[in-house]
Amino acid sequence: MQHFIDLILPIPIQKTFTYSVTEDEANFLKKGMRVAVSFGKTKMYTGLVFNIHQMAPTLYDAKEIHQILDEEPLVNEQQLQHWSWISDYYMCSLGEVYRASLPSAFLLESETIIIKSDVPIDESILLDDEFLVYEALQHQSQLTLHQVAAILGKKKVMPIVNTLIQKSAISIQEEIYEQYKPKLVKYVRLHPDYSSDASLEKLLETLSKAKKQREAVLGFFQLLSSKKPIKAKDLEVKAAVSSSVLKSLVDKNIFEFYEIQIDRISFVGDTNDLKQLNEFQQVALQEIKDSFQKKDVTLLHGITSSGKTEVYTKLIQEVLDTGKQVLFLLPEIALTTQIITRLQVYFGDQISVFHSKYSINERVEVWKNVLENKSKARIILGARSSIFLPFSNLGLIVVDEEHETSYKQFEPSPRYNARDAAIVLAKIHKSKILLGSATPSLETSFNAAQNKYGLVPLNRRHGNVQLPKIELIDIKEKQRKKEMKGHFSDRMLLLIQEALEAKEQVILFQNRRGYSPVVECKTCGVSPECPNCDVTLTFHKFKHELRCHYCNYQRAMPNSCGACGSNTLDTKGFGTEQIEMELKTLFPDYTIGRMDLDTTRGKHGYQKIIGAFEAREIDVLVGTQMLSKGLDFENVSLVGILNADSMLNFPDFRAHERAYQMMVQVSGRAGRSKKQGNVAIQTFNPNHQILQQVSTTSYLAMYKEQLQERWQYKYPPYFRLIKITLKHRDYNKVDSGIDWLAKALQQSFGEFVLGPSAPAVSRIRNQYIKNLVIKIPPKQSLANTKNQILKIRNTFEAVKDYRPIRFIIDVDAY
Ligand code: ADP
Ligand code: ZN
Ligand code: ZN
Repeated sequence: MQHFIDLILPIPIQKTFTYSVTEDEANFLKKGMRVAVSFGKTKMYTGLVFNIHQMAPTLYDAKEIHQILDEEPLVNEQQLQHWSWISDYYMCSLGEVYRASLPSAFLLESETIIIKSDVPIDESILLDDEFLVYEALQHQSQLTLHQVAAILGKKKVMPIVNTLIQKSAISIQEEIYEQYKPKLVKYVRLHPDYSSDASLEKLLETLSKAKKQREAVLGFFQLLSSKKPIKAKDLEVKAAVSSSVLKSLVDKNIFEFYEIQIDRISFVGDTNDLKQLNEFQQVALQEIKDSFQKKDVTLLHGITSSGKTEVYTKLIQEVLDTGKQVLFLLPEIALTTQIITRLQVYFGDQISVFHSKYSINERVEVWKNVLENKSKARIILGARSSIFLPFSNLGLIVVDEEHETSYKQFEPSPRYNARDAAIVLAKIHKSKILLGSATPSLETSFNAAQNKYGLVPLNRRHGNVQLPKIELIDIKEKQRKKEMKGHFSDRMLLLIQEALEAKEQVILFQNRRGYSPVVECKTCGVSPECPNCDVTLTFHKFKHELRCHYCNYQRAMPNSCGACGSNTLDTKGFGTEQIEMELKTLFPDYTIGRMDLDTTRGKHGYQKIIGAFEAREIDVLVGTQMLSKGLDFENVSLVGILNADSMLNFPDFRAHERAYQMMVQVSGRAGRSKKQGNVAIQTFNPNHQILQQVSTTSYLAMYKEQLQERWQYKYPPYFRLIKITLKHRDYNKVDSGIDWLAKALQQSFGEFVLGPSAPAVSRIRNQYIKNLVIKIPPKQSLANTKNQILKIRNTFEAVKDYRPIRFIIDVDAY
C-alpha cells in the first residue's frame, strides 16, 4: 500500500500538492504538521499537511518528502477550516492564507548553497560570468544565491549556476535553517561538590583572600533564601560584582551556569479589580448576554466615552471563568497602547499582545502559547492578523471599533476583512462575537436592522458628561471678512486660547501630513511629480524635501521649476507640518506636538507622543486621522477640525460615511471626564448634510440617508462588489488586457460591470493600474459569480501576451 500526503505550499497556486511518504511517516504525520519538500527545480519549501491518504495523483509522480519538521501539529483543525473559508470567500489560494497566517519563522525556506567541486577543472572552459563565481569560491568555502547575484550584478543567476554544474566547477546543496531562536537566560547554581554545609565552610575559607569571589558566594546564599532560581544578572547586582567574578567561580568548579528558556514578552505589574459598571452599562451588559442567547453576533452601539471597554472587560471575565479563550481585536494596535494598558491592569499576565511590530521571535512565542492554551495567552489582544492564531477553545471575540478600515487587508493577498473573517471564526468555534463602535459601519447597522445581528445601545457617557458642543465655522465667510490668520479662523483661535488659559489641552485634526501636498510653479503651473508614480510630490519643510506618499521617493526641494526654469515655485494646500509651525508662532508660550506617520516611526513612536500628551507635556496635539482612534485623554476640552471639506469630496462611495465616522470619532476625544467639551469644525460648506449630521451627532439620520443612496446607486450593503485590478509596467499591456477583460465580463454580467477605469493615482512604483468593478445584485449567487470570474481569469491568463500582467481580485473591496 502506498501512502500520500496533500500539502499546502506557501505559493499563490490554488490547489494542494501531493507527495509520497512511507507507511511509518504516514502513521506519524498528522494534519497541521510541517514537512520540508522540494518544489520546482531547486527550491525547498515548508509544506503543511492538509490530508493523509492512499490515492496516487493521476497527473504527476508524487515526489518524496525531504524532512518532517514537527513532532505535533502546529496548526489545528479549526484553523484549516477557517483557511478554507478565507480561500474560497476571498478567492485566493490556501497557500496565500498559510503564508499570511504563520509567523515567517515557521515558514523556513531553503537557501541554495553553492560549493566548490572536489575535482580540479580547466578554467579556460569558463565564460566570464562563470569565472567570477568560480573565482569567488577559491576565496570562500560557499556562496548563497544572493551572494552570487551580488557578485554578478544580476538577478537571474540560475542559468549560470546550472552551466557551472554541467562543467563540474561547482555543486549545490540545500540548507534549511530555523529562524526562531529561543531566548535563554543564564542562571547560577552551586557546583554539586558543594552541596553540604561542611564543604561550604571550607569553601569560604579558601576564598578568604579573593574578596570579590567571597562576596559573590555570600550574595548567592542570601538570594537562595527566596527559593527561586538565581539569575546571573541578579547575583551580579546583589553582590556588586562583575560577570568575570562569576566566571572565575565557575572555572574553579564552585558555581555552575545553566540556562532557562523564557518568553521575550511578559507582563509585570500590579492588577486591579474590575470597575463597578454604572447603571447604563449594567443594562447593556445584561442585554448583550440576553442577545447572545439568540444571536451569535451582537453589535454594541455605544457613544464615545460611554465606557464600552468596561462592558467588554466584564464579559471577558465571565468567559475566562468558564476556561475559554478570548480574542480582542483592535484596529491598529500601535495606536491603542492605552487600551492595552487598561486591560493589562485588569487581567495581568493572562493577556498576550500580538501585532506586526513585534519581532519574528516574539510572534512565534505568542503562537506557541496560544497553541498550548497556556494561561498567559487566555486573552489575545491583537490587530487583524491575530485571527490566524491557533485558538482551540474560543469563547468570545470582541471587535472594537468595528467600523475601522484598518480591519481590511488590501495588499498582499489574502485581501480579507478581519471583522468578517472573525465572525466566521466565531462560528467555527461556536463562540460569541461582540462588535463595538460609536459609529458602526453601514453594513453592520444594516445587518442589525435586518435582525441578523443583535443590537444593544449605550447612549450615556460615563459620569453623565454631555457629548461635546459642536460648532461649524464657515471659512468662506471668514475669508471674505478677513478673519483668518493662516489656516485658523478667529473663532478657532479664540477657542484654543480659552482652553489653554484654563490649562486644558487641545487636539487639532488635519487629514494630510507634510507641509503642503502640492508644489506648483506660478509661472507655468507645472507641479513636480514623482518619477515612479502619477502623483504630485508633497513638500516637507523641516527636511526641505519633496516626498512621494505612495512610494517614499524623496528629493531635495528644488530652487527653480523643472519645467520652465523660473524660481517661482509656490506651495499650495496644507498638512500637519504647516499647522504645527503656524501654531508655534501663534502660541509661542505653549508646547505643540505632532502625531502623524512622519513622527511615529519606530516600535515605540506612538507611545512616546501619546505618553507625553497624557503627561500634559504637550498642550496642543496636531495630527492626522490616527488621532480619531479610541484614545482617552481626560484633560482635552477642545477638538478642532481644520478642513472638513477634503474628507467630504473624496471620490468613493463610502466617503460620506467615512467622513461622518472620522469627525464623530475625533470629536469624541473632547470633554471625556469632567465638563462638556467643545468641537469646532472649519468648512467652506457648513450646509453639507454630513456636517449637519455630525454637528447634531445624528447617526440614524446619516444611516438612513446613506442607505438610500446605496440602494439607488447599487452599492453595498445591497449589492456586493468584487474589484479586479491589473498592474504592469507596460501601459499598453494593461490597457489592452483590461479591455479584453471588460468585454469578457460584460458577456456574463452585462451592465453590472463598471469600468474599466484608472484609479486617482494611476501609476505607482512604475506599475500602471486599471480597475474593473463587478456589482453583484442581492439575489445573484455569489458562488456562481466567483466561479465565472475564475473561469474568465483562466482564459485571460492563457493569452500569452497577458500572462505577465498582475491580476488582483479583491472581494468586498471597500
Ligand atoms: P468608550 O470606549 O466607550 O469611548 P471608555 O471605555 O474609554 O469609553 O470609557 C471612557 C472613560 O470613562 C474611561 O476613562 C473609563 O475609565 C471611564 N469609565 C467608563 N466606565 C466607567 C465605570 N463604570 N467606572 C469608572 N470609570 C469608568
Ligand atoms: Zn514653471
Ligand atoms: Zn512615488
